[in-house]
Amino acid sequence: MSTHKVFYFSHAPENVYEIIREEVPPGFELISLTEDSDDERKEKLADCEVVIVAARPMTREFVAAAPALKLLHHQGVGYQDTVDVAALKERKIELALTPAGTSIGVAEHTLLLSLAVCKRLPYADSELRQGRWHINSLRPYSVELYGRTVGYVGMGRIGQETAARFKAFGTAGIYYDPYAALTPQQENRLGLSRVEFNDLLAAADIITLHVPSGEDTYHMIDDAAIGQMKPGAIVINTARGTVIDESALCKALQEHRIGGAGLDVFEEEPFRPDNPLASMPNVVLTPHISAGTRDALKTKMRALFQNVRRFFNGEELENQVKL
Ligand code: NAD
Repeated sequence: MSTHKVFYFSHAPENVYEIIREEVPPGFELISLTEDSDDERKEKLADCEVVIVAARPMTREFVAAAPALKLLHHQGVGYQDTVDVAALKERKIELALTPAGTSIGVAEHTLLLSLAVCKRLPYADSELRQGRWHINSLRPYSVELYGRTVGYVGMGRIGQETAARFKAFGTAGIYYDPYAALTPQQENRLGLSRVEFNDLLAAADIITLHVPSGEDTYHMIDDAAIGQMKPGAIVINTARGTVIDESALCKALQEHRIGGAGLDVFEEEPFRPDNPLASMPNVVLTPHISAGTRDALKTKMRALFQNVRRFFNGEELENQVKL
């Protein structure tokens, strides 16, 4: 039986590859990078039939370097900015996504960032480690989730998982999604009502973004949108950096026009430490790790390799993106 080569396109530490290898079924071989090198990428792409893409974009140049490529499998769901769809289409290369393992990780991270901003957790922790004991000085700024209104921008897989978790904290929920409406039963279960974007901006205490990147969502949160928010509003972004005009957000935070922000994604990644957001006590920053748990990786890889097997057995792919 011939072995199908599956190339893991992002560079990762060896113990990440070990977790992935545990899920590789017989008949498949995982090819990985020894260093973050584009030359090594191109060399290894030469005879791979499947490529797994994560955050590192698979551009036209890399598609051209992979003459045997039949299936590009995204490890997550945000393919719009990581896959050159036109280059795949020209060669009739299939594209599939892996929602399994993604939605729960991102939903939990959204709650984590929200709570951390509410209590200024990284600031309190780093101050304590330097001998400063803020037992009372954070009290005027710390808030609870209970009783607050959460505004969800985008109500797909992640929006729904997030809403279910916020509800457990006793929040009220409103959402804006022009393309997808929940059923009355779903709205009832999640305690949500659908509103227009401007109404969401004006009413929400926490605004959390769960939309894809793209022209439609580019800088949805700009100076004008921020201007409509409540003075204490908290903005959470676990979607994509392009959804927020980061300099407008930064200015609003500096001028104390809104309450805080929790950001896992940025307009420029990796995040530069000289970014003014880095010095704000009411801002919590993480390096695009919302879906980056060990649990999520195992779940993703199990689902992904089941799909790859389906593909080579001539069965229909799950979560295929029709190009
Ligand atoms: P999804 O396709 O299930 O849901 C996206 C929702 O956004 C859809 O319901 C869609 O109708 C809605 N939408 C699209 N354009 C909109 C607009 N202009 N205004 C309001 N709503 C709009 O996708 P998902 O699985 O929920 O993932 C959402 C996004 O989260 C992904 O596209 C990805 O960019 C991001 N993501 C980030 C991480 C991370 O590590 N931080 C991990 C996974 C996904």
